[in-house]
Amino acid sequence: MLPTIAIIGRPNVGKSTLFNRLVGKKLALVDDRPGVTRDRREGSAQLFDLKFTIVDTAGYEEDHIETLPGRMRQQTEAALVGAAGAIFVIDGRVGLTPLDQEIARWLRGTTVPIILVVNKAEGKAADNGIMEAYELGLGEPKPISAEHGEGMAELYEGLMPVIDKWVEDNPQEPEITMDDEYNVRDIEAATLQLAIVGRPNAGKSTLINRLLGENRLITGPEAGITRDSISIDWVWHDENPPEDVDPDRKVKLIDTAGMRKKAKVNDKLERLSVADARRAIDFAEVVVLLLDATKGLEVQDLKIADHVIQEGRALIIAINKWDVAQNTGALFNGIRGALDEGLAQLKGVPMIAVSAFTGKGTDQMIKAAFDARMAWSRRVPTALLNRWFEGAQERNPPPAPGGKRIKLRYVTQARIRPPSFVLFGTRVDQLPESYRRYLLNGIRKELDFGAVPVRLTLRAPK
Ligand code: GDP
Ligand code: GDP
Repeated sequence: MLPTIAIIGRPNVGKSTLFNRLVGKKLALVDDRPGVTRDRREGSAQLFDLKFTIVDTAGYEEDHIETLPGRMRQQTEAALVGAAGAIFVIDGRVGLTPLDQEIARWLRGTTVPIILVVNKAEGKAADNGIMEAYELGLGEPKPISAEHGEGMAELYEGLMPVIDKWVEDNPQEPEITMDDEYNVRDIEAATLQLAIVGRPNAGKSTLINRLLGENRLITGPEAGITRDSISIDWVWHDENPPEDVDPDRKVKLIDTAGMRKKAKVNDKLERLSVADARRAIDFAEVVVLLLDATKGLEVQDLKIADHVIQEGRALIIAINKWDVAQNTGALFNGIRGALDEGLAQLKGVPMIAVSAFTGKGTDQMIKAAFDARMAWSRRVPTALLNRWFEGAQERNPPPAPGGKRIKLRYVTQARIRPPSFVLFGTRVDQLPESYRRYLLNGIRKELDFGAVPVRLTLRAPK
C-alpha cells in the first residue's frame, strides 16, 4: 500500500509533464494543444526515496469553457478522496488566472494537505508568477520546471512530511521481511544510496570525480529521476563481492556539490554547507563524512556526524588528503580519540584514510559503506535476540531502585534501517540510562551491528 498524491490544476499548466517526470516513463500523452482530452491516469511514482501513487486529473477540453469549472471541480474532488496529499500546479509564466483562484478556493476548503507548485519556472520567466502564488493562501509555492527536472528537491521537501504523516497513520509491514527468510542477497543487490558530506574544501568534488573517473557512468543527465543533479548513478566494481552478488554494484552518489550550485540562497558558505549536508543525509542510507587530514577534526564535523546518527543513517568517516598527511599514525589515532571523546555514539564508527588524488582507500571506503548498509538493514531473529537478552540480564541484572526489582520481559526488533528495538517490562520508566546503554552496547557488539546507530526504546506492556 502506497499513499496517493493527486496532481491538480487547470489545463496546460504542465500536470502531465510532471506526472511523466515522477513516473519516469513516457506514459502520459503530452500535447502542445491546450487541454487535449486524456483519461485520468495513475502511475507508480518515485522522487528520490519517496514512493507513492500519482494520479493526474487532466481530462477536460478547454473549448467547452462554460462547463469546464464544473467538470474540473468534480474531477478534483474525486481525486482528493482518499489522497494523502495533492500537488496543485500553476503556470508561472502565465501567472494566476481566475480558474487558478477558484481551484485554490476549493482546495483551501479541504483537509487534504496541498503542495503548491509553480511550474515552468526555469530561467526567470516565472518570477512574477511565484510572487503571485503566495496570494493563494496555500503556503510557500515551490518553483519547479517539470520539463527540465528543476526544483525536484523543493518538491521533495514539500511531499516528504505529507507522505511521512500518511505512513505514520497507515503502519506498514517492513519492506524487507525476514527472520528465517531474511534475504541478504536482495539487500546487497539493491542500489546503495551514498552521500558524501563534509566541510567546504574537504575534497568532496575531487573524490566524487575520482570515483566516477574510474567507473562507468550508467545514467546520463537526461534519464529517469536521477537526471536531477542531486545524484549520480554509477557502478562500483567489487573485487570480492558477497556470495551470489554481482560484482558490478550499483551506487547512487548523492552529490552535495551539485546541490550547492542549485541553492539560490546568498547565505554564508558555512551555513549553506551544513544545509547541503542535511539534505544529502535525508536521501542517503549511508553517509561518508569526509575530513581533511591537513585540518583534523573540527566542531562542525562533529555536528554533521551527530546529525547523521540522529537521523538514523549509517556513518563512515573518511580522512582525505592522506597523500600529504604528516605523522600518519599519530594523526589517525588522534582523530579516532577525538571522535570517540566528542560523541559516545561514534565509538567504533569505521574510519578510513583516503586520497582523492591517488585513489588510495577509496575501494575500502565503498566496501565499508556496503557493509554498513548491510548491518543497518539487518533483522535479528526474535529467538536469537531473546536468548542474548536473557544472557545479558544474567551477567548484569537490572537494578532494584528502592528495593523493587525492575522486571524486563522481552525485546523485539521493531524496525530496520536503522535497527530499532523495543524492550518491554514493568517499571521501565525507572530503568537507569546506564542500564539502557549497557543493553544498547550489547546489541551493537554482540549481535553484530558494528557501528550503525541502533535505537532502543522502553515500554511497559499495556
Ligand atoms: P496539462 O494539461 O496540465 O497536463 O499540461 P501538459 O503537461 O500537457 O503541458 C502543457 C504544455 O506546457 C506542454 O506544451 C508542455 O511541454 C509545457 N510544459 C510543461 N512543463 C513545462 C515547464 O516546466 N516549462 C515549460 N517552459 N513548459 C512546460
Ligand atoms: P569540496 O569543497 O569538499 O568539494 O572540495 P574540493 O574537491 O573542491 O577540494 C578542495 C581542495 O582540496 C582542492 O584544492 C583539491 O585539489 C584539494 N584536494 C582534494 N582532494 C585531495 C587529496 O586527496 N589530496 C590533496 N593533496 N589535495 C586534495
